[in-house]
Amino acid sequence: MQKLPLISFKDFGYSSLMKIIHQSWRFGFLIAVSIFCSQIITLPALAENDPTILLKLQETANSGIEIDVQPPRLLEATVTVKGTFENMKGTSFLPLTLDLTYGKQDFRKPFPVFKAIAKDPSKEYNWDWQYRWQIGNRGGRHNDSVAYFLPYRQGEMHAINQTYGGSFSHERGSDDEFSIDFDMPTGNVVCAARGGTVVAVRVDSNRGGPTKDFAEFANYVVIKHDDGTYGRYLHLRQNGSLVKLGQVVQARQPIGLSGGTGWAESPHLHFDVYVPISGEHKRSLPVKFVTKMGIVPMLMEGMSY
Ligand SMILES: [Zn+2]
Repeated sequence: MQKLPLISFKDFGYSSLMKIIHQSWRFGFLIAVSIFCSQIITLPALAENDPTILLKLQETANSGIEIDVQPPRLLEATVTVKGTFENMKGTSFLPLTLDLTYGKQDFRKPFPVFKAIAKDPSKEYNWDWQYRWQIGNRGGRHNDSVAYFLPYRQGEMHAINQTYGGSFSHERGSDDEFSIDFDMPTGNVVCAARGGTVVAVRVDSNRGGPTKDFAEFANYVVIKHDDGTYGRYLHLRQNGSLVKLGQVVQARQPIGLSGGTGWAESPHLHFDVYVPISGEHKRSLPVKFVTKMGIVPMLMEGMSY
């Protein structure tokens, strides 16, 4: 069970406007509203560094718009921006897919990724845009010689609730096909299945439940491996991170505490290895594990390891 809001969006990031910019989100946030001329509408305050918000649209003085990246709680993202315009021209064609990397771009303050201005400001001009994003950059190629450690302390045994192609939420052909759910009580120590660098952490949520509507409330730690793939540890408990952004971790190192945040019928750990292919989709990858029975190409549903 999984589906991270950052990663699978549905109607996430939708906005439209006619003279008034009006972004309304599934979370119920109104993010950016401004009016042409002079009037400004005050908005409910946003949580600083809200992990669900990556881009923000604002008007510019020259009858235009600018789409800015906001400082998020992650170091790498792939973003796809879509939009339609009337009487406007942009700095690039849409859809536009970008790899954003902390260090190459400064995530601590907004910076523009797309701009558009009115072709004829004396006439009406309109736009409509949306975006989706994944944690991580594109281009990774999995090193298939790597065997992964089970993501918990040695000596523990955990049952596999769902494995590759599981019908509940790891369906064949879906972005999450090659994912594994380990049965795990809340507060269990989660360990890195493979070493790497921590590129995303979210542990502020305390909400979880049995339907997709809860997906956006999942806590997680995401680790980038040296082959450019990403390991994702999902459903962590509130404040359940033992690592920091940018930290280098070794395989088997404790990285978090399990829980049931997000789309989870009961507490468990969802683990997958993936590469983003756009802001909309990622490709999960089958990986092999080191077990007491040796290295196995796949963990089997119903078995304990
Ligand atoms: Zn899962």
